[in-house]
Amino acid sequence: MHPGGFSPGRACRILPQIGQEVKPNRLARGPTSWYNAGATNGWGSSKTQFVKEARINEQTVVIAQGLVKFYGNFQALYGLNLEVRRGEIFGFLGPNGAGKTTTIRCLLDLIHPNWGTVRVLGLNPQANPVAVRARTGYLPGELHLEPSLTVEGALRYFNALRGNKGDWDFVRQLASRFDLDLKSPIKNLSHGNKQKVGVVQALMHRPELLLLDEPTLGLDPLMQQEVLRLLKEARAGGATVFFSSHIMSEVEAVAERVGIIRRGELVEVAETATLINRALRRIKVRFKQPVDSSLLAKVPGVTLLSPGDGTSMLLQVPGEMDGLIKTLAGFPVSDFETERPSLEEIFLAYYEADRKEVK
Ligand code: ATP
Repeated sequence: MHPGGFSPGRACRILPQIGQEVKPNRLARGPTSWYNAGATNGWGSSKTQFVKEARINEQTVVIAQGLVKFYGNFQALYGLNLEVRRGEIFGFLGPNGAGKTTTIRCLLDLIHPNWGTVRVLGLNPQANPVAVRARTGYLPGELHLEPSLTVEGALRYFNALRGNKGDWDFVRQLASRFDLDLKSPIKNLSHGNKQKVGVVQALMHRPELLLLDEPTLGLDPLMQQEVLRLLKEARAGGATVFFSSHIMSEVEAVAERVGIIRRGELVEVAETATLINRALRRIKVRFKQPVDSSLLAKVPGVTLLSPGDGTSMLLQVPGEMDGLIKTLAGFPVSDFETERPSLEEIFLAYYEADRKEVK
């Protein structure tokens, strides 16, 4: 029991033991296109640091174990476990108030969890917040920009906080891609343009880890696509990307893995494709002549959604379709259509479960 009198939460999957503290990982990764500006971005060549920790660091750049966070009496995180692997794009999905921002802020030690362990890039952010932040590109959910500065002034300010590691050629490229005038006063910017400044400041030092809280929020569709392209380019250059979103289609488009958070717990983590594949599919079948639908309804896992008139019917199958296809082979099938749910539908099912539990 924690001294504060609460237990570490509902869900606790045991993760590998985390090794002792490590210095910033400089395991060699050659600069690639995203990092092609002289590799002054934190990627170095020394391979001599602690091997055990480096191995963890190399494979898993973010580890959170049993995170519990209280705001006063309100518990926002219930023993949240999370692992983000090096070089992946990880989409963090969850309804409003699920705990996405809280999690991200704990990862950077912007707020302290009441319980649990965090390692980012092999470092403990509570002990080394500056080192972690210097190697990370962070976009907060609500970015404060000083209105009296210009865009460039604001970017210079963020750059100074990270030891002036920014790449100004890259900044100019980003500004041009986002159609952002570096000379504009912040006070004149629309919400979307401020968001672009936030994205640029997160990327400008070509960090090895991007922690982005809703990076496309408030951007128009073209700019949303530009952000997604940049995330892919960052990944192609060796960066790891962790981003939260409400927009399922964008997570589906770029993330290799997705985590779904609900009421302070990670309720699902899976490869994006796996999550979609193993979800229920709807199948429309047409037959050349009427068939007895009850025969198909008996196939394990198959649900008859609509028996139709015997020459067409609507079925539902979870995951594998082998049993159904083998059974259908004995019937005179004229047409067969499957409908996969989008990540959006899967996510909505989690929303629904949440709403029912709350009621
Ligand atoms: P959204 O998608 O709406 O941004 P989120 O998933 O990022 O939501 P959080 O901002 O992490 O959710 O909030 C998680 C819960 O903690 C919410 O119920 C929120 O009201 C509560 N919360 C967050 N910050 C505070 C705070 N400073 N004081 C009290 N409660 C807070």
